[in-house]
Amino acid sequence: MYTWTYMDRKFIGLGMTALRNNMTQLRHPYKLTFSITYRCQSRCLTCNIWEMKPVNELTLEEIRQFAAKNPHFRWIELTGGEPFLRQDIVEIVKAFIGASKNLYIITMPTNSLSNDGMILEKVEQILQTGIPKLSITVSLDGYRELHDKIRGIPGNFDKAMRVFKGLMELRKRYKNLFFVFGYTLSKYNQGMFAKTVEEVRREIPEVSYNDFHMNVGQVSEVYYNNTNLDIKAPREEISKEIDEFVRNRRFRLGAIPAIEGVFLKKLARYVQTGKTPIKSRSLDASLFLDSYGNVFPSIMWGRKIGSIRETNYDLEPIWKSNDAEDVRRLIREGKEPGNWTACEAYQSIVGDIKSFIV
Ligand code: SF4
Repeated sequence: MYTWTYMDRKFIGLGMTALRNNMTQLRHPYKLTFSITYRCQSRCLTCNIWEMKPVNELTLEEIRQFAAKNPHFRWIELTGGEPFLRQDIVEIVKAFIGASKNLYIITMPTNSLSNDGMILEKVEQILQTGIPKLSITVSLDGYRELHDKIRGIPGNFDKAMRVFKGLMELRKRYKNLFFVFGYTLSKYNQGMFAKTVEEVRREIPEVSYNDFHMNVGQVSEVYYNNTNLDIKAPREEISKEIDEFVRNRRFRLGAIPAIEGVFLKKLARYVQTGKTPIKSRSLDASLFLDSYGNVFPSIMWGRKIGSIRETNYDLEPIWKSNDAEDVRRLIREGKEPGNWTACEAYQSIVGDIKSFIV
């Protein structure tokens, strides 16, 4: 007889909360996207985060206070900059795991530029905390020369390969580890995805299209800080690339592949229209917290609604503020800037169940 584990319960809890969002506004957000630092060693052509010189970012002690006072998260995305540049990343994760008893998944990207031994060591330490699911996205935007050119760092492709191979080894011992390559489409790599997969397969023959997550390069004032950059490829090119990507993926059963399928289908629509393809769940299911403690509806909208440093690290007064209500009204009226990023899309998809069929 199958015995339900605490992991199953947390997964079901996450699913039920997301589904409940179809019928009602949630009392608390269940998804947190948190930039733990804006420091980054890349020199990406598509993003200006690396040019920031952040000072006075949230300390570990402040993050611990925030985690303790806001224990309702079920899904946390720790992003950057480069999250592994925070020496205390394992302690940050532990702070959230200790406080959010229903936490099911932590997701994190990496540019693979820190020492790969250190990245893998920290990943293993996080896995040992008992988090039901840890998902790492290894950024990869092209074949060897192209990736290094887009990222501005010679040798970055090879480092990404080393990290991915290291994750494959870890996966043999930790069933709670998941990882993919994260591929961001822009004018710099249009039409180059198949060649990229080919080059990766020379290093890691078992890699398939299913080992990639595809996204489209986005422009935002609050997060990427790249409104001065022209990064978009022509729509037809992006659509062609997404179609080919979808065609070459193997069908898989399960909740995550189903959501990923909807994400890609709507991504193609977003590319055509520039509009968020389904109702946004920003400031309902989710929020974006930057590394200074400022709270925004999403990584794509620089409409600050408060700072946890001004509320003693408690989100509640910000969540219930008039400002937050104003933003929710604007979202309801369809006035949120168009976006379709992995940070925001998944909770919108599950919170709008008809998006699986329409
Ligand atoms: S895209 Fe990521 S790796 Fe590149 S500069 Fe921005 S934060 Fe750094």
